[in-house]
Amino acid sequence: MGYSKKRFLAMLLLSSISLSTVSFADSISEMENKKHLNQKSADELKNSINSLEQEKNSLSGDVAVIDEEIKKLEAQISELMKQISALEIAIKETEEEIKKLEDNIDKNQKEFEERLGAMYKNSQVGYLDIVFSSSGIDDLLSKASTMKFITEYDKEIINNLKNDKLVIDAKKSELDGQKLSLEISKQTLDNKNAELYASKASKLVLIEEAANKQSISQAELEKLESEISTLEKSISAEKAAQAEDARKAREQAAQAKAQAQAKANTSNRQVASAVSTKSSVGAGEISTNVGNGTLGWPVPSSRNITSNYGYRTLFGVPEFHMGVDIAAPLGTAIASADSGTVIYSAYTGSYGNLMKVQHDSGIVTYYAHLSSYVASVGERVSKGQTIARMGSTGNSTGSHLHFEVRVNGAHTNPLNYIQ
Ligand SMILES: [Zn+2]
Repeated sequence: MGYSKKRFLAMLLLSSISLSTVSFADSISEMENKKHLNQKSADELKNSINSLEQEKNSLSGDVAVIDEEIKKLEAQISELMKQISALEIAIKETEEEIKKLEDNIDKNQKEFEERLGAMYKNSQVGYLDIVFSSSGIDDLLSKASTMKFITEYDKEIINNLKNDKLVIDAKKSELDGQKLSLEISKQTLDNKNAELYASKASKLVLIEEAANKQSISQAELEKLESEISTLEKSISAEKAAQAEDARKAREQAAQAKAQAQAKANTSNRQVASAVSTKSSVGAGEISTNVGNGTLGWPVPSSRNITSNYGYRTLFGVPEFHMGVDIAAPLGTAIASADSGTVIYSAYTGSYGNLMKVQHDSGIVTYYAHLSSYVASVGERVSKGQTIARMGSTGNSTGSHLHFEVRVNGAHTNPLNYIQ
């Protein structure tokens, strides 16, 4: 009965352990799965962050190249600006020269006009008009020749004026051309510069976009990594809880077993002590009422032999009785037949609870059908000392002691030793 009860308890505990194990395993594997998925996403994000980094680096490289080009262009522009400035100075000087020439023309014209006198002053066609409308020096001279008043000196003035005017025109035109071409190159460079700045700006926008994407990915990655770390903590906490539960279950099983054992022991002791109160000899007490044999009488309170050593018929079956049976009430004190050492105490088949004592002479005595043990294996006992209590365990029909004397292992008639 005790066995099946214990077994039932153990099965109950086992089933509760396996139930909790299943639920733990489910939640752990769920978390492991989630952790695995998070890890996968995190790896993908890491790859995307790396490729964004590469993109950013290559864009930065492009921008650096463009920056170099812009620097060169800026140097070129600066050089051109210097040239333009030099040309502007040259233009100003030329303009001053032109002004001087014009002043000279003016002066010559006035001098000439004064010298011509009032006679020509009022003529319908101005002298200078003739001079400047001439298509060439020959034409002029042919016209001038018609004007008898023109002197050699006048002719020289006219030529000088005409040359000056041509030089001025040529210089003016040359300067205009230079100004225009400079303006064009300046404009071209400005355009190019603007274009380069625009492309640099667009590259910067791309870099910024890549950086933004990267920081978003980084934030996502950090979130995932934090989730992974939380999951790892939860998993190890679950595993620890699982281990703790298993430990508690083992402890409970051990306690249940110990309690069952203690209960069994207590009931044995209760029977023993209940009976022992009736007995005059207490546990471990030494009785002197052990007779006059070589060995002491093992039941100090009873001399009632119910079965002798030798052949007998028990339940109609002949058998050899290897000891003597001495009857007394349950729990009666059993005394050691001589001083010696307890070498055995265990339930042994038809003997029931059996105790063996090895005596100093080499003889071993057997005490069977006991209700409980008082002495323990290894314990040194004296002659007449209570070592056990009478019972009816094993193959027994009532409370009695089955006592054997063994010499060199062979059973012998105990009555040759006890009286
Ligand atoms: Zn017997």
